Amino acid sequence: MHGTSRIGTDIANIDWGGASGYLTIDLTKLAKNYERLAEEVAPARAAAVVKADAYGLGAVRVAERLYAHGCRHFFVAHFVEALALRPHLTADATVFVLNGLQPGNEFACAHDGIVPVINALEQWHQWAGMAQTLGRKLPTVLQFDTGMSRLGVPPEDRAALAYLVKEEGGIDVLFLMSHLASADDTDSTQNDDQRTAMNSIAAEFPQFPVCFANSGGIFLGADYHGVLARPGIALYGGAPTAGRQNPMEPVVSLDIAVVQTRTVASGTRVGYSGAHVTTGITRLATIAAGYADGLPRSLSGRGAVYCDGIRLPIVGRVSMDSITVDASALPEGRLTLGGRVEMLGPHQTLEDVARDAGTISYEILTGLGHRYERHYR
Ligand SMILES: *Cc1c(COP(=O)(O)O)cnc(C)c1O
Repeated sequence: MHGTSRIGTDIANIDWGGASGYLTIDLTKLAKNYERLAEEVAPARAAAVVKADAYGLGAVRVAERLYAHGCRHFFVAHFVEALALRPHLTADATVFVLNGLQPGNEFACAHDGIVPVINALEQWHQWAGMAQTLGRKLPTVLQFDTGMSRLGVPPEDRAALAYLVKEEGGIDVLFLMSHLASADDTDSTQNDDQRTAMNSIAAEFPQFPVCFANSGGIFLGADYHGVLARPGIALYGGAPTAGRQNPMEPVVSLDIAVVQTRTVASGTRVGYSGAHVTTGITRLATIAAGYADGLPRSLSGRGAVYCDGIRLPIVGRVSMDSITVDASALPEGRLTLGGRVEMLGPHQTLEDVARDAGTISYEILTGLGHRYERHYR
């Protein structure tokens, strides 16, 4: 977006320079990833999981773009996320709340056309009660626990639920769902266990279709697809399967501004607690993002940034608002005040940063801070 001066351009999309960091979100690549996943699951359809502000990338921008590419099913985690997103989509799109119905949400969900996932018998009763009050049918999705023990109707309540489904007319069940606990690990026997459990649930409720696979599940094969898949991380460029080549296109890049450079003698302490001590004459660069910007403190002395494809290791502790890197590998004068280094981009993937930080790509993405200047491409 450099040099954009078109009248009417979104102010947030103008690169004024002087920001601490520049987060670029490539909506074209996002759309490509959606199409790639939709192809993989066809003839089933692909939904989009846009919880946590679309994993930090902006739920409204992401959902609008994916809607234009045929996506009609959008999953969020919390009711408040659904409330925020719903007005931006037309009536032919559905917004589902994965965490389910909470006491007090029923009326607003029904009023705003939000579809809560039912995770427990009591939620069925709440929703059926609201349907009766309003004198119309209300839609839902039935989520079952197939071995993750997190959300969903437990096995012992299935018979009671089947009875309610049969006897109570107020609720319109759109589909059955469950969530895979180990889908990113193709060797895990838990996948097969959960699929077997899901198949027996589908046999108990043969009138309803199944929604099953997350990103990893999509690549486990067609018997995990049901009629609707629910990818999240793969849409945003994260690797769906651990230890395999990532088939998705990177969507996010992050460049951080240099706010100071210096050359120090051997034996100089760097950062809090002097956790790093230089072992030779060292050129240091301080960059303007830290753990408050979603770069975990666990990157202290472990991670790196890149400049011209050259790795510049993080030295010392990650601070709240800055990180110091060893820029000695670069030609003198290459990095100066106002320069930028790559944190996420062609030389360093989300998975690289996550590995160095001892976490997963999901946590890096959803943690990206709000102090970066954002550009949507
Ligand atoms: C977060 C979530 C997803 C998306 O998972 P990814 O691994 O990001 O594809 C799908 N289903 C449920 C129930 C979830 O909580």
